[in-house]
Amino acid sequence: MAKIELKGVGHAYNSINGEPNYALHPLDLTWKDGGTYALLGPSGCGKSTMLNIVSGILTPSKGQILVDGRDVTQLGITKRNIAQVFQFPVVYPAKTVYENLAFPLRCAGMERSKIDKRVIEVAELLNLDGILQSRARRLTPDLKQLISLGRGLVRDDVAVILMDEPLTVIDPQLKFSLRRKLRDISARHGHTLVYVTHDQNEAMTLAEQVVVMDNGRVVQMGTPQELFEDPMHEHVGYFIGSPSMNFLNGKVTGGVVSVMDLPVGSLKQAGIADGEGIKVGIRPEFVHIQKSETKASCFAKVVDVQDLGNNAIVSVKLVDETNIKLKLRENAPSIGSTCFIGFEPPMVRYFVDGVAVQ
Ligand code: ADP
Ligand code: MG
Repeated sequence: MAKIELKGVGHAYNSINGEPNYALHPLDLTWKDGGTYALLGPSGCGKSTMLNIVSGILTPSKGQILVDGRDVTQLGITKRNIAQVFQFPVVYPAKTVYENLAFPLRCAGMERSKIDKRVIEVAELLNLDGILQSRARRLTPDLKQLISLGRGLVRDDVAVILMDEPLTVIDPQLKFSLRRKLRDISARHGHTLVYVTHDQNEAMTLAEQVVVMDNGRVVQMGTPQELFEDPMHEHVGYFIGSPSMNFLNGKVTGGVVSVMDLPVGSLKQAGIADGEGIKVGIRPEFVHIQKSETKASCFAKVVDVQDLGNNAIVSVKLVDETNIKLKLRENAPSIGSTCFIGFEPPMVRYFVDGVAVQ
């Protein structure tokens, strides 16, 4: 229900030798109306900083935030049509579920009958309608977190929901159902949802678009499939996928890239000189064991096998001691055996200075 634009938005909490020390480097980003997004990256990469700038908890040191084209950069959190849910539930333990949900509306001076109607609507939406008279303190963490969410949703002007690692305190068994509920609610109501997590599975199952962050920068925004198949940055290859993408040292000769003298593909893009350092990236899913030696296969020794039931993660060592992981659906070879491996040519990716090249 609202489009969000970040224009040149950056934030430094402090400076080093008079220069801003950016926790979030200035960036441009657009989140479309009704979209579901995840901000994914390791701890300290600037996810909460970005989210708090959008919600209005933090005023950025640079740039503008537009909500539906309106500049809200200087507006506080209560003046934006945005609700934020935090890592830990924010509820009044002594109050009932009803009173917790009604609180933001009471503060806004809404009429009693209107409050009643809104609270019941939101409680039904979150399946909290059966426990409206229970005291919040007696509830499980996932129910408390739903109340926090309800307190955001109860305002009828909310168009954007921001969530900062909201499932941290939730039991693993409950996480799955709550995650699905969050996705259903945002889809049904058309809210724009931005969800912060450091867990790739959570990001990939919840969001249409995942914003991958590293060290205060957005390295790529894309669908789960785009991030998996076409990482624009080594960090994405490393952070998305389990196990991570394999990275091998490659050599360029007249546009042809080889690994240990084995040609693995050629570059479309000009300007990468012979001898320039290039990394070859290949996901474990696209490395295969070959029945016999071919011109495109590489001799390897199996050093580890993890049997995961429906697939196996096999680690092999090449003659130059490089380690490669394979994800196999078929029977895994035994540890200590030798084999020939090959890469699926269309799935080989190249990186120079961490950035994808073609
Ligand atoms: P994330 O949510 O991805 O874990 P944060 O946005 O919280 O990351 O933090 C990004 C960086 O900014 C980190 O290096 C963190 O230490 C720093 N930082 C966060 N909040 C503050 C603050 N209030 N004052 C100074 N530095 C901060
Ligand atoms: Mg954080």
